[in-house]
Amino acid sequence: MRVTMSVIKADVGSIGGHTKPSSAMMARAHDRIASAVKDGTLIDGMATYTGDDIALLMSHTHGEGAAKVHDFAWDTFKSITEIAAKEGNYGAGQDLLVDAPSGNVKGAGPAVVEIEMDRDAAHRPAEAFLVFAGDKCAPGAYNLPLYLSFCDPMHNGGLLLSPVLHKGFTFTVIDMDHKSRDSDRVIELNVPEQVWDLATLLRDPDRFAIEKIHSRAHPEEQAVSVAATRLHNVAGKYTGKDDPVALLRVQAIFPAPEEVVEPWATIHQIVTGDCRGSHNMPIMPVAINTAVTGPYCLPLVTCLGFSMDKEGRFTHDYVDFFGNPAWDQVRLDIQKKALEFRRQGFFGVTMASQAELSYTGLAETMEALDSSFGLRTDMAAQTGVVSSDAKDPD
Ligand code: MG
Ligand code: MG
Repeated sequence: MRVTMSVIKADVGSIGGHTKPSSAMMARAHDRIASAVKDGTLIDGMATYTGDDIALLMSHTHGEGAAKVHDFAWDTFKSITEIAAKEGNYGAGQDLLVDAPSGNVKGAGPAVVEIEMDRDAAHRPAEAFLVFAGDKCAPGAYNLPLYLSFCDPMHNGGLLLSPVLHKGFTFTVIDMDHKSRDSDRVIELNVPEQVWDLATLLRDPDRFAIEKIHSRAHPEEQAVSVAATRLHNVAGKYTGKDDPVALLRVQAIFPAPEEVVEPWATIHQIVTGDCRGSHNMPIMPVAINTAVTGPYCLPLVTCLGFSMDKEGRFTHDYVDFFGNPAWDQVRLDIQKKALEFRRQGFFGVTMASQAELSYTGLAETMEALDSSFGLRTDMAAQTGVVSSDAKDPD
């Protein structure tokens, strides 16, 4: 049986600022999912939130990019937007950037990840997978953790211990600066052979993001899908941070959950996002359904683990990986690092890169100041420096 797991998320409004969706908004999401399961659109599904983003987790048999599923998600977010607007919530419908997408919400604002899989594959009797959701950050936030889990034995000893993992992976990396409605600019790189080429791209997370990772032992099997579209490319201006989701299949031919969550504990990665999407701070792993309330909107990431049965059902139970005391010390360390950064305010590396800021009001100020700059040509008169020809001989 071919089953597709789709996760589609959007920020369609939140209470008291960029915090979390309201209870009524979440109730509408739960109701919509329940009716879609009942009428057979979905096999199974659930709705969660991470900060101000609602994620719809859905299994079905319609394949990737199916109009039936994408239209359902779009209509659900539209319906939730009505509640958000009625309640006066902040940013109602914020991520719904076009009026009517033609059966596919990719490029219309919501973040999308999908993986189609064969639930009868002999090499994969159990289907374990993780759903990551990030708030106040961009798709490149997954670059470093995924690189470390899939390429670096210092963070994933399984790459040495498992003969299947040892065969390596194929990364698909997307150039997010390529702004076209008709094409994506992508490259495929095989690791371990091209690991430094991969690193060269991934070190620029504002521009390049991992979009997919496939097993090389089983090339038909996709391990990872990351939502790697930039909202500012869709809208042409800053309309909120991308807040990407990621879907990771784990165990057996893929890394284990403990190997993919390890970098989130050890590196305390600084990402672009935070307040106004314009600052750099470390991203904090938190329990599912956590509101953003910290100073300067510290970026958050959640991680749920599921098992899917042979019929494609997965919501019978789940594990909240970051909602555990094992992560308490990590959170404290990250908060400490974040406050260190905040002491530097807007200056230098604590604010986002110039490329990211080009979508903000800073660009307008720079443009206005630019016309007031003048060129000083009489350097000698200004500095008092005397040319060597005029010097008195010793
Ligand atoms: Mg928001
Ligand atoms: Mg958000």
